[in-house]
Amino acid sequence: MGRRSRKRYKKVVQVVRKPPTRFQCPTCGLMTLSISIDRSEDVAIISCSNQNCGLRATLRGIPKIYQEVDVYAKFLDKFTEGSIEVTYSRGSEHEVEG
Ligand SMILES: [Zn+2]
Repeated sequence: MGRRSRKRYKKVVQVVRKPPTRFQCPTCGLMTLSISIDRSEDVAIISCSNQNCGLRATLRGIPKIYQEVDVYAKFLDKFTEGSIEVTYSRGSEHEVEG
């Protein structure tokens, strides 16, 4: 009566053609970083949807030709330099500085 379970190999093949709006978050490392560009303000909002991370940043002066991926590259540069203000809105933790 041995129940044999076949080994299943999950194949996750994603062939979805849509513009990449999800990027790897430099803080939590998940693909939960979303970028939205406000063309009228030349501003891009970068936010991480990982609740344990909650990274948020605003990048101003976005050139019209910039796509999300360009904004992401620029954001990473600034993030590495430490020249962009980044906030974290973690749900459970409250870090109060001052
Ligand atoms: Zn994150």
